[in-house]
Amino acid sequence: MDADIVCVGFGPASGGFLTTLSRGILKPDGSPAIESPSAPGLPLQVLCYERANDLGFGVSGVVTRARGLRESFPDLDSGQIPMAAPVTDEKILYLLDPVGASRRPALMRAADGVIRAMGGILRVKDDAMELPWTPEFLDKHGGLVLSIGQFNQWVGQQVMGSGIAQIWPGSPVEEVLVEDGGVAGIRLVDQGVTKDGKPSDGFTLGMEVRAALTVVADGPVGPIGRQLDKAFGIPEGHQAHDWALGMKFVVDLPETCELNPGTVLHTLGYPEPEIFGFFYVHPNRVASMGIFVPSWFDNPARTAYRYLQHWMLHPAIWRHVKGGRLRSWGAKTLQESGRRGEPRLAGNGYARIGEGSGSTNVLTNSGVDEAWTTGVILAEAVIELLKQKKPFTAENLDSAYVGRRRKSWVDKEGRVAERARDGFQRGIIPGMIGMMVTGLTRGLFAMPGKPMPPHRRLPSLEEYYRGRIPPEEIQAIRKESDAKGISVHAALMERVGWPAIPFDGELLVSHQDALLIGGKVQAPAGYADHVEFLYPHDCESCGNKICIEMCSGQAIFPGENGRPAFDREKCVYCGACLWNCSKANPREPEKGLVEFHAGAGGLNSAEN
Ligand SMILES: Cc1cc2nc3c(=O)[nH]c(=O)nc-3n(C[C@H](O)[C@H](O)[C@H](O)COP(=O)(O)OP(=O)(O)OC[C@H]3O[C@@H](n4cnc5c(N)ncnc54)[C@H](O)[C@@H]3O)c2cc1C
Ligand code: SF4
Ligand code: SF4
Repeated sequence: MDADIVCVGFGPASGGFLTTLSRGILKPDGSPAIESPSAPGLPLQVLCYERANDLGFGVSGVVTRARGLRESFPDLDSGQIPMAAPVTDEKILYLLDPVGASRRPALMRAADGVIRAMGGILRVKDDAMELPWTPEFLDKHGGLVLSIGQFNQWVGQQVMGSGIAQIWPGSPVEEVLVEDGGVAGIRLVDQGVTKDGKPSDGFTLGMEVRAALTVVADGPVGPIGRQLDKAFGIPEGHQAHDWALGMKFVVDLPETCELNPGTVLHTLGYPEPEIFGFFYVHPNRVASMGIFVPSWFDNPARTAYRYLQHWMLHPAIWRHVKGGRLRSWGAKTLQESGRRGEPRLAGNGYARIGEGSGSTNVLTNSGVDEAWTTGVILAEAVIELLKQKKPFTAENLDSAYVGRRRKSWVDKEGRVAERARDGFQRGIIPGMIGMMVTGLTRGLFAMPGKPMPPHRRLPSLEEYYRGRIPPEEIQAIRKESDAKGISVHAALMERVGWPAIPFDGELLVSHQDALLIGGKVQAPAGYADHVEFLYPHDCESCGNKICIEMCSGQAIFPGENGRPAFDREKCVYCGACLWNCSKANPREPEKGLVEFHAGAGGLNSAEN
């Protein structure tokens, strides 16, 4: 099949691209301003393929300054978008440890003691201290609280309503067609295949779509972006070793909750010092709340789900949500190398936008507005090239798209943020100081630190729990957990003092219930497994098996002979397994032993 433009993925980046494109290539009366080069006489042929079962099944926070969004929608009324509210109140809370299990550095423990002793003066309430001010670089006043799912659906309806683009959900893109040093289009995944991709009942070969321009907007863990990196390389000195896993609940707040729509709470300090939390209030007593588990949190048994429950139970959070109910749940990784993770932005026949193109700002914790704006910038460049009847060559895209992007606020602010998180490579305290210094000096100074892939920085379980759990006990816990086919983190955490979770079936639910009730996770039949263990033999001798511990959906679990196994039916497509492997790939030492292909299914909730 032929088209003029084909897009991979429908998130905020594609939303910005297609919204701007639709306005530029239509006349005010709705008739086409630009004819299709591939089908003369017809309007431009634009197709967008999204792997999830519907538009808006992605995961995000979201609080955004909404600069780019407001430029696209100057008369934006937040009332038009379900779950949207203007930011009304923003606070940063430092959470003390109410249970005594958190692994805090000695300096932090001492500071906690001082904070508790001076609780009256420092406004300590419910084991939390409100910071006296929000640094300007984090401040989101004037912005919006959104649900990215609802926002993407709202944008998708408008784009499709304009008639310029067809957006196809449930259509994972398997590969880009690399030909003659450029990209000639895409191919969708095969259907009617076995777990290992062999043709089976109803086999259908993935359709090829040839296009003059392929827009890759597949987010932080997109396999298509990685194929381009492999085919064309990445700019020297760039790397994407920094990431975080974000996991969230969308909840119905209890009647007793007094927080107003538009309230934004950021938390730090608990359940572990490295884990940050967010709490955003939507209209109609609904809130999005969750945590980020970053790559530099060196716990080989790191688990987002269990930590999320402890965070929720912190008195400063629990007092707002006690008596509430789970509506939706989800998880997804964020690329946190920001501009330093920027790949080649364009080449012959392709361009990259969004988080996978290094747009996320790691100082302001903002990704949506940036991703959207990179899409807008590309659309402006494409309209210019189409009007000038210039082909989408590397040279033309470089001057029209990359040139524009370099002059944009996304790029300028991305440069300021570039080194903001380096201090975290040395620990939480240097990290916090580094963020502050970079923010307050607008990127002039930063705390030094070298981001590394997980296998180069992760200690073993024995090292991490040294002095708290004897190695032989860790081995016994591992043996018992393997026999039960479950991860070890729950047993290890409880052993060092984390209390059991008092499940209530409403908000404090088991991981499996979160998957079924909250995520409504589904995997359509007839697709191959999209998570692949490249060297299962090497997994047998892996002591950490962090792929199992970190898996957001319990889709990776102990299999036979010490190897991990994968259950596609539980996978939420968060991408954490791609980042979380404790062994180096012998062929590509910067990477681990897990490959993450294009896959179907996953979360079936548009509230995240
Ligand atoms: C828990 C969490 C909280 C966050 N909070 C905030 C916040 O408060 N403020 C903020 O500004 N940002 C926040 N972010 C970051 C923000 O969500 C991202 O920066 C933003 O979504 C990036 O947009 P994108 O379009 O580049 O990528 P994505 O939103 O990731 O969209 C990419 C799309 O491509 C699809 N795709 C991937 N591979 C394929 C394929 N092979 N074929 C077809 N489709 C494919 C994916 O399914 C996805 O829909 C948060 C992220 C998370 C996970
Ligand atoms: S995939 Fe990586 S983390 Fe998982 S068992 Fe294999 S080597 Fe260990
Ligand atoms: S297997 Fe699926 S749910 Fe588990 S970490 Fe990988 S992408 Fe996430």
